[in-house]
Amino acid sequence: MVSYRPASLEEFIGQKRIKEELKIYIPSVKSRQEVFPHTFFVGAPGLGKTTLARIIAFELRRDLKITSGPVLDKTGTLAAVLTNLKEGDILFIDEIHRMPKVCQEVLYAAMEDFALDIVIGKGQVAKTIRLSLPKFTLIAATNKPNLCLAPLRDRFQLIFKLNFYTDEELKEIIIKVGKAYGLYIDEKPALSLAKASKGIPRQALNLLRRLKDFAWLTRSQPEEHIKVDEGLVKEFLELLDIDEWGLTPEDRKCLLTLYKEFKGGPVGLGSLALSSGISVEELESIYEPALIRLGMLARTRKGRVLTQKGYLYLKERFGINPLEEGLCLFSK
Ligand code: ADP
Repeated sequence: MVSYRPASLEEFIGQKRIKEELKIYIPSVKSRQEVFPHTFFVGAPGLGKTTLARIIAFELRRDLKITSGPVLDKTGTLAAVLTNLKEGDILFIDEIHRMPKVCQEVLYAAMEDFALDIVIGKGQVAKTIRLSLPKFTLIAATNKPNLCLAPLRDRFQLIFKLNFYTDEELKEIIIKVGKAYGLYIDEKPALSLAKASKGIPRQALNLLRRLKDFAWLTRSQPEEHIKVDEGLVKEFLELLDIDEWGLTPEDRKCLLTLYKEFKGGPVGLGSLALSSGISVEELESIYEPALIRLGMLARTRKGRVLTQKGYLYLKERFGINPLEEGLCLFSK
């Protein structure tokens, strides 16, 4: 199955404010034949940072080189990437916070002066040589901007924070991308899929891929055109054990652990992750934000707590009665 990526700003759904700004900057930079300003995208994995970088390059008709923080682990590697750029190229560095500090420091002069400072020799005989670089654009993406050195962050002229998507936006994405996958999805089942997508397009697309296999196997319809109605999506979500709130087994594990092992909290993210058997990364970037948006979990200064809504969910789903347990309720 071909993977779907919106190719232009027009096709990109959601992130309205970012799109509105880009719709001003892109044509103005293009008409002045200038180099696009260095741009910083902040947001959880799967929200569309790489897609937006591709769209900027496409709309400007510029070449895009894609790399990532973990790959650029030595100054020599970074220098090789920078010296291979052409005037106007766009360099996209994903997970830029994972670049070592010395590499982040090399970017200061590269971004500001389009120069590369190379140190030759060691100790007292060490000399710095400055090489000039072509004027290029750096687009960087991260979920952890605080792990980037402040002087690096300050060198980005445009900083965009991507929001989690609303269920309505994800519904639109699901119907549209569904068609590209040969799935014709009604509005109501599309909304059920959206609710299970955690505000993240990548999650929605993953569900769609699995839905296609499921529909194909259970309905034996020709692969090019599958009609997806409410019944089909209900069966599909049941198979994945996703409930009517859109909560997955991992979400429930997280809430139940918080309730059973930590008496509703507060508890630190690391302890909650360890006890729930979910990685800290995933808990932080996928499950926790979704549970917070649903109002079932809250982040306090002392740690994560189960909210009143979270208890009500557990009560309805598992017949748990918090009063019997003498737990403290956090109202939201
Ligand atoms: P990130 O770089 O933030 O991790 P990506 O840009 O790789 O996220 O997006 C993940 C997937 O979701 C890609 O397949 C992409 O095409 C899709 N996607 C992201 N944002 C949108 C959107 N607004 N509309 C449709 N698909 C999207």
